[in-house]
Amino acid sequence: MSECASSFQMMSFARGDLGRSATQAIDAHIETCQTCAAAIAESDVHERLVEALRESEASRCDNENAVAMFEAARAAILAALLDRS
Ligand SMILES: [Zn+2]
Repeated sequence: MSECASSFQMMSFARGDLGRSATQAIDAHIETCQTCAAAIAESDVHERLVEALRESEASRCDNENAVAMFEAARAAILAALLDRS
């Protein structure tokens, strides 16, 4: 991959949702592109990712238990991010 990945691709990459070949392509690109490497490394990316996940989850699911579980997962992710920094 010679071009930068889209933000959607980056989010999918960060989530681990991309297929193996696409993940490898972005991996290879990140090694040669400081811009994308910095974007992935920034915790801000993770925060926006979590927000996007939360929105998609909330709009897709009316089940309150599922939403509550997602909130708990989100809190755990944020706690882990804060621990690291
Ligand atoms: Zn790039």
